[in-house]
Amino acid sequence: MIPDWELLTERLSAWGWQPLPGSLRRIPGGGAIFIARKESQRALGWIGESVPFGTAPLHEPWSLQALRAALYPWNWENYQTLRGLLPLAPQRCDRPASFGAGDRLGMATAAQIAALRRYPIFPVLAQQSPRELARTGRDFRAVLLDAVWGILEAGYTGPFGADADHLQEEEQLRAAAAAGYSLYTFDLRRALARGPHPWEELPALARSVVTELAGRRIETPEGPWILQESALQEAACRYALALEDVVRWAGILRDQGIDADLEVSVDETEEETTPEAHAFIAGYLQRRGAALWSLAPRFPGIFEKAVDYEGDVARFARAVLLHAAVARAFGGHRLSLHSGSEKFRILSIFREAAGGCFHVKTSGTTWLQAVRVIARVRPELFAELYAIARAHLEESRRDYPIALRPEDLPAALPSDPEAALADRAVRQLFHISYGVLLRERGIAIRELLESHAAEHDAAIQENLERHLEILLK
Ligand SMILES: [Zn+2]
Repeated sequence: MIPDWELLTERLSAWGWQPLPGSLRRIPGGGAIFIARKESQRALGWIGESVPFGTAPLHEPWSLQALRAALYPWNWENYQTLRGLLPLAPQRCDRPASFGAGDRLGMATAAQIAALRRYPIFPVLAQQSPRELARTGRDFRAVLLDAVWGILEAGYTGPFGADADHLQEEEQLRAAAAAGYSLYTFDLRRALARGPHPWEELPALARSVVTELAGRRIETPEGPWILQESALQEAACRYALALEDVVRWAGILRDQGIDADLEVSVDETEEETTPEAHAFIAGYLQRRGAALWSLAPRFPGIFEKAVDYEGDVARFARAVLLHAAVARAFGGHRLSLHSGSEKFRILSIFREAAGGCFHVKTSGTTWLQAVRVIARVRPELFAELYAIARAHLEESRRDYPIALRPEDLPAALPSDPEAALADRAVRQLFHISYGVLLRERGIAIRELLESHAAEHDAAIQENLERHLEILLK
């Protein structure tokens, strides 16, 4: 039976709770759940006969028609129980195209879904890196909990992924695995810093992969590419030992019975990834039993945060074509484009050259929309945030490869918020300053966004749709 929503709302509002209408879901086998909000507090509601949740309810359970109703805290333990009742666990990607939308505030997922569900794309909704977690004071569980909250809020019942992004340490991997993430992005930067290693010191397998691949012909729409032995050797010296970390980490997941998508990211390294490096990475991992789901190469051009692509678009397109051909030759993993925020010049080129098999990640763009809403609604808070961010530039830019210099930043902002955020340096500053701003003024930021939820949601949805329209048109 469907409980009477009005009766439910009446009872809950007496306690100050507001149930979210789109969140009501029937549980196969009996009962229903919903979520409710009381200012910034979150709760999980249950209607049914016997209660499956083990924690103490927030209020004494009450009778609702012929059933019992109760309200529980929205926490990890209750989500775990819920995962056993409804398909609310992250899962492996089941589509050729996928899109990751990070939500640093944990308040944006429902609006992101409103955009993503309109497109034929697999959504990765919980996507955060350890550097984002450190800056926002969250952990992998909290991120997933926030994302599932947004899923319930949006009434979304389709599949979704959760991306433990830019992992560089085993401890981070274990934390994400314990939270049940479905996508693991291994960032090789730290491992690569220990190399390159002399050819003689490489594992025998690395040398045999080079021998095996040298001279191999990769068919591309622009003609064949022959894998060069010298470039393969160079790639082996650079990558082989770093890839052993990936092999070990994939083994940890396997030992825990976790069937996950594996991405290797070298997008934040200095040099462009050659087709030979890509082939070596894919071939070596295949031979070591840790096949790629995706690779994020370092593409030609500049992928600065919060601004459009800078570089030769035709050259970028050629590189994507070539990488896509390599990917097809090694089992058909997808190409992953990071820092996809605002890269309007290249999104559709990327999709086309990648042959429709791709992943795009964005995160900062959603946060920037929150900043935009603050700027529109409360310019004095926006000005204050700017001053704080400017004073903490050095701290914020740690871990972010960004060219922003202090002298690029205007001393005072124009009064028109759109003009202020049109300034490249200002956008970049806000993009990387979320940690400092949430630490210093997090309560004010959250309160403002909660009290302007409709505007915040609209800004997020509109922005993501702009990305998706261009990407998928
Ligand atoms: Zn990245």
